[in-house]
Amino acid sequence: MSRPKPPSKADADKTKAELQAELVTLRLKLHELENDVVCSGSSVDRGALLDELAELKRNEALLDGILDTAGDVIISIDEEQHITRFNRGAQQTFGYRPDEVIGQPLEVLLPEQHREAHRKHVRNFRAGSSDGRMMNERADIVGRRRDGTNFPARASISRVEQDGEIALTVFLHDISDIRDTERLVQRSRNELAHVARIGLMGEISASLAHELNQPLAAILTNAQVLRRQIDAGPGNLAAAEEASTDLIDDARRAGEVVRRLRALLKPGERKFELLQLNDVVADVRNILASEIIIRQVTVEEDLAPDLPMVSGDRIQLQQTLLNFFANAFDSFEQEKPADRRVRVRTSRPRSDSVELCVTDTGSGFARGDYKRLFEPFQTTKRDGMGMGLAICRTIINEHSGRLWAENNPDRGASFYFSLPIASSVASVSQAIGLQCETAAPPTGGTVFIVDDDPSVRKALGRLALSAGYATETFATAQEFLRREPYGGIGCMVVDHHMPGESGLDLQEKLSLRGYSMPIIFITGSGSASCGIQAMKQGALDVLAKPVDDVLLLKAIEHALEVDTVARKRYERRKDAEEKYRRLSPREAEIMELVVKGYRNKQIAYELGISEKTVKVHRGKVMEKFEAKSLAHLVRVSEIIAGDAR
Ligand code: ADP
Repeated sequence: MSRPKPPSKADADKTKAELQAELVTLRLKLHELENDVVCSGSSVDRGALLDELAELKRNEALLDGILDTAGDVIISIDEEQHITRFNRGAQQTFGYRPDEVIGQPLEVLLPEQHREAHRKHVRNFRAGSSDGRMMNERADIVGRRRDGTNFPARASISRVEQDGEIALTVFLHDISDIRDTERLVQRSRNELAHVARIGLMGEISASLAHELNQPLAAILTNAQVLRRQIDAGPGNLAAAEEASTDLIDDARRAGEVVRRLRALLKPGERKFELLQLNDVVADVRNILASEIIIRQVTVEEDLAPDLPMVSGDRIQLQQTLLNFFANAFDSFEQEKPADRRVRVRTSRPRSDSVELCVTDTGSGFARGDYKRLFEPFQTTKRDGMGMGLAICRTIINEHSGRLWAENNPDRGASFYFSLPIASSVASVSQAIGLQCETAAPPTGGTVFIVDDDPSVRKALGRLALSAGYATETFATAQEFLRREPYGGIGCMVVDHHMPGESGLDLQEKLSLRGYSMPIIFITGSGSASCGIQAMKQGALDVLAKPVDDVLLLKAIEHALEVDTVARKRYERRKDAEEKYRRLSPREAEIMELVVKGYRNKQIAYELGISEKTVKVHRGKVMEKFEAKSLAHLVRVSEIIAGDAR
């Protein structure tokens, strides 16, 4: 038997679709020839035909060889989308032997949830409808291996028509490696951006310390004023009120500074949300408030009202803007304070994008530097890293936006970025969490506060007391656990981070003891995982420290409502169980059948007693449950079974 020749250079240059077309043609010819050979009477013709047949068979074997060595997955399917060819690449990728899949529908190679869409797609493609993918146009799909695991794949499909017959061939390439690499690159980019952020914060650390010291100093002074006014007697209530209001505002301000810093310094995955570019400007303005004063710079804002939302990572966009500002400030080395001006402008130059521009009156960049500005390690500063703008460009690219710069005609430079606007109104309201909530009036009850920090504990207790709730405070989880069980309506406000047993430990122990009091967690770490864990264990709410008084009181109100409802349900069940225990065994039997909808006659038959006796027992059951109707009795039985809400 002659062996297939190795592929010629011309064959190797052919596309897979061309090879496939050639194969189909050969097959058809082969078929015709075989018919001719069978039907041919002349021995001369027969010999020539046999030669041609052998040649064609060699060619087919050769093409088979080429398709097998192609490495990629090549699968042919018939009109019914059944697999007719499964090359070696397909066997290696999917883990099936050809005999296991030949004749099977193509969809055995796809996860369940994609099958219908895929079937329709191939049908359309075969019919040449516009919905079908173009020949060789690639699409990312998900494949399913023999062992049930899924993998990402890039696939294309080709259609070859020969003498009215259509052959479809799927070409597919496993792109798991590409996806892994993309994930790795993304992680490295996030890490790099994070390191750059820390660097940026380091540059303005003096002003950040100042930013934090301001409210702290004001808190101290106002607290001292308050103390003096209290010492002086009740006549100074108005002044005390004013001082305490300022004190609250300053404490909030300090908390806000810490929150913003923590968000910027925290490493983390990129998180896209719908946001307003003007809000990002406000965030950065707040972070830079002291830096602007120290550097003696005038910052002007020209923010377009009613800008549409964009989809972006708030921290990364803040970082980009911070970088623009930091560079602008650095460009003022030679300028007198009066000439140090930065203007930040937002606008919507096109219907589908918003734009931000930071213009300064500094040195501008050197002619010819433009191309290098955004390249890594390009810096003209003595202690510069030259990474800032390179990272900004990556960030903006990943937001599908554009970043550019120009020297101003008079002096200084302008740095820009534009972002596509987020389109869907529905998603906007989803992202900003539009909810219609109707608040119910407070219900009264006891608030149990567990926090190891004495001043926080005291302050929380005072806040709950001021809203009219009874309060009890505990320094540790153990201290609370030692308290005798509480039977009234209440809720708990628990610190997550406590020495010894944490808030989560306490929550777990309480649930093991069958305690169902709603818990509101307070966490200083701001970590989502702690919140998720707490919620999973049944916490009602998780609030970040420093806690906003309005938010906490709202959470307490809600928790007490929840406990009131739960307690009522518990009392009802206890009462129903108590009454159920008072039934005789026969009455209990009859009750069970009554609530199932049996008539007296059926019950009598079922239990082998007279209908009259059933009536008497039934009356007793109704009496013991104080039930006025059958519906009432059914409801009571549901309460006992725990099905009632
Ligand atoms: P770095 O600030 O560490 O130098 P960047 O990537 O942020 O890194 O900036 C790269 C270079 O771009 C700077 O060294 C500076 O030469 C130039 N540059 C950036 N912004 C401005 C600006 N507003 N005015 C003048 N030059 C600028």
